[in-house]
Amino acid sequence: MISIRGLKKRFDDLEVLKGMDVEVRKGEVIVLIGPSGSGKTTFLRCINALEIPNEGSVSIGEKSMDFSKKVTTADILYLRRRTGMVFQTYNLFPHMTALENVMEGPVIVKGKKKAEVKEKAILLLEKVGLGDKLDYYPYQLSGGQQQRVGIARALAIEPEVMLFDEPTSALDPELVGEVLKVMKDLAEEGMTMVVVTHEMRFAKEAADKVIFMDGGHIVEAGTPQEVFGNPKHDRTRQFLNLIQ
Ligand code: ATP
Repeated sequence: MISIRGLKKRFDDLEVLKGMDVEVRKGEVIVLIGPSGSGKTTFLRCINALEIPNEGSVSIGEKSMDFSKKVTTADILYLRRRTGMVFQTYNLFPHMTALENVMEGPVIVKGKKKAEVKEKAILLLEKVGLGDKLDYYPYQLSGGQQQRVGIARALAIEPEVMLFDEPTSALDPELVGEVLKVMKDLAEEGMTMVVVTHEMRFAKEAADKVIFMDGGHIVEAGTPQEVFGNPKHDRTRQFLNLIQ
């Protein structure tokens, strides 16, 4: 369903992604783990063209973008319309209510009419447990609630894949669970997800596949049982020993 081939990304002289090959099947949950600076966030941002890769391709649905050629605005929009991104720091519009934040994507990115999207936005906020907070502004919500609005907002464009960039790492520990619960529910409903996280319990419980990255490439990938239970590489073992 999503095929990423030979993806490379440089920032000036720093080669951050050195050729990433990842296949994501429909309904699959992929969790990316790895040390700080290994390129996890950059990889996720390349999938929806928040960063433009220098080489390689991303295919979603019927279209394949070859980044060694010139990328058009239409290509970027194609990726953005099919990928829902959830950021570490929520990135909600501060001057908009929860409901307005969720409605913004379908109206702006997909060009839908406000009345059309309102009903769906309310359902999404109910789904993430915020049906009673529709008219609250971000400053009136806890971090966990803001992140759940962030998830509802990403879902509102009806993406083919949800991309989560360390969605719980800015949260107080007692608020992490409510966000992970929403993510687990989504996974169980069959949403296709690529998740960068340091929450190893989530990876063990929800991932179909765990990818361990270091230094801009994949060191190993497998089921949670394989990667956590029987890592093949010393580098993976060292990393897991440090964090578990
Ligand atoms: P963390 O777990 O700490 O978030 P990460 O694995 O997600 O790390 P990235 O955020 O992808 O790593 O960063 C990989 C490298 O790319 C780092 O050395 C970082 O400084 C560099 N980098 C990321 N974005 C930029 C940018 N916009 N300009 C220059 N360098 C960047």
